[in-house]
Amino acid sequence: MPFRALGLDPKILQAVQDAGYTEPTPIQSGVIPKILEGQDLIGIAQTGTGKTAAFTLPILTKLVPIIGDGSRRGTRALVLAPTRELAVQIEENVRAYARHLPLRVATVFGGVGERPQIDALRAGVHIIIACPGRLLDLMNRRCGDFSGLKFLVLDEADRMLDMGFLPAIRQVVKSVPQQRQTLLFSATLSKEIESLTHEFQRAPKLVQIGRRSNPAETVTQLVYEVPKHLKPALLAHLLRDTSLNMVLVFSRMKHGADRIARRLEQEGIRTDTLHSNRSQNQRLRALKDFKSGAVRVLVATDIAARGIDVDGISHVVNYDFPMHAEDYVHRIGRTGRAQAVGDAISFVTPEDQDELRALERFIGRGIIRKKAEGFNYAQAAQPSDADSGKRKPSNGFRGQARSQKPIHPGMKVPQPSNQSRTQKTQGGRFRPR
Ligand code: AMP
Repeated sequence: MPFRALGLDPKILQAVQDAGYTEPTPIQSGVIPKILEGQDLIGIAQTGTGKTAAFTLPILTKLVPIIGDGSRRGTRALVLAPTRELAVQIEENVRAYARHLPLRVATVFGGVGERPQIDALRAGVHIIIACPGRLLDLMNRRCGDFSGLKFLVLDEADRMLDMGFLPAIRQVVKSVPQQRQTLLFSATLSKEIESLTHEFQRAPKLVQIGRRSNPAETVTQLVYEVPKHLKPALLAHLLRDTSLNMVLVFSRMKHGADRIARRLEQEGIRTDTLHSNRSQNQRLRALKDFKSGAVRVLVATDIAARGIDVDGISHVVNYDFPMHAEDYVHRIGRTGRAQAVGDAISFVTPEDQDELRALERFIGRGIIRKKAEGFNYAQAAQPSDADSGKRKPSNGFRGQARSQKPIHPGMKVPQPSNQSRTQKTQGGRFRPR
């Protein structure tokens, strides 16, 4: 179905064309007509599926007459998002899709001075993209006019719940008109999300794209088995390959992210970090430098990286194996976007093996094991690294022959027949949420 069959305003179609989109993504063709009809909606889709345009394009279409009418100044659409990075990214998208309209838009989030945000709200903006905490703070101080609000979007609602934003969201929703269209987007449809939709929506339509746990089809997924103490050396080794030119590395901990970055900088690789110990300005600059290519590697934690939209990421490296299956799916969704084939590389230590198998069952496919070419596992395992201690120069893997054998994508991983193994895996830290 072409974009022009969806009923969007011509000025918005022009912007879509300017952006180079040739046809709508599945979530876009699924939700745009429903939003234009005025229905409440639950969109189950991962980041990277085009969901921002899926809600922005029809909202803008419905706002066109209001945007042209300079007499009313109140806010018409409010988008709530879990992180500052995501809010900034949504704003960039909204501005791009509204480039042929005199739209006023503002972002509201903590960690930066509030004065410009207050001024923007007082001056009147059509669309606000906000993190719930700071917005509530400003609303309590009577900033902004929400009495004519027509659209409320809860983006990445699952993550907002995880981050404890529910009380703030409830307060915000109480302060906006009941006569509105409410659109909720989430990567998963959990019980908590269902109760949220009952609380905030009226007879919502459900649009679900793909299987709940299906990672982006275009991403080539690989596993490198490596003992923990060799991970820094392996990462540096892999980065000698210049085709890894825009690399997002995931670290479980903030200080781990800093350590990885320091190590790579020592190797002469331009690296920056994205995590919650960094100031808002540092985070925005890190993203900007990564996007522009000034830094080649960005090391991030899951929350900080949630929803970031950077075109052209060549590789995602799971330096630390993710804690939850959904995090894996989110992480690898950063690459392989918009048809560009990208690689997702996961380092897997002997301790991660059970979790890897649990992940393979969750995503319904095996992941290819690979050995790093030219990386001397035995030599590098000598106790030169502080982490290696008195370790034997073994690579730490049992069942070597089996684990080196590639498992082809698409192949189902058999459920383990052994009862105790099943229990152990299900009871381990790696559980689908
Ligand atoms: P999102 O899921 O909203 O984060 O979007 C993921 C990426 O897909 C963004 O870089 C968008 O610019 C891009 N995108 C959105 N819609 C389309 C489309 N119809 N065709 C091609 N790219 C798109």
